[in-house]
Amino acid sequence: SAMARCSLREELETIVTLTANDAKARKIRLALEPPAGDHVVNADGEKLRQAFLNIVINALQATPEGGTVTIATRQADGFHQIRFSDTGPGIDADTLARIFEPFFTTKPDGTGLGLAITKKIIEAHGGMLEMESEVGKGTMVVVRLPVI
Ligand code: ADP
Ligand code: MG
Repeated sequence: SAMARCSLREELETIVTLTANDAKARKIRLALEPPAGDHVVNADGEKLRQAFLNIVINALQATPEGGTVTIATRQADGFHQIRFSDTGPGIDADTLARIFEPFFTTKPDGTGLGLAITKKIIEAHGGMLEMESEVGKGTMVVVRLPVI
């Protein structure tokens, strides 16, 4: 791995650039809220981008036309907290219990590997991955990465 100082703002801007066309084509507002300060993490940038991309792709796939995907960053308790919120259908409790299992998917053409890989990447960086969801309201993925 290639651990280096990474700017969360730069990594997230890259993800927004990579997914902007897809969001636009599906009439989804993709918003990156400007962070209050400079959020720097010690990370393998390529792996981190893969993790963020998996989360944003899931959010875009779940969000209907006219919906919103929001990315917001804050800092609390020694962790950077990156929140990916979507206005999709949410996830029921039975599904939520299984989403991190490799090969678990509810999509006809899904691999079920995105979140399993993403969780591994975040935990390998000393962080945590959590998913909060309410059926009918949407889903929020929270990534925590240690402040350096
Ligand atoms: P895949 O995208 O190939 O299905 P993932 O591991 O990325 O695999 O996701 C596993 C499952 O978690 C998805 O099939 C879906 O049911 C659920 N999921 C993930 N993200 C969201 C989201 N933002 N909104 C609703 N469901 C989601
Ligand atoms: Mg996925």
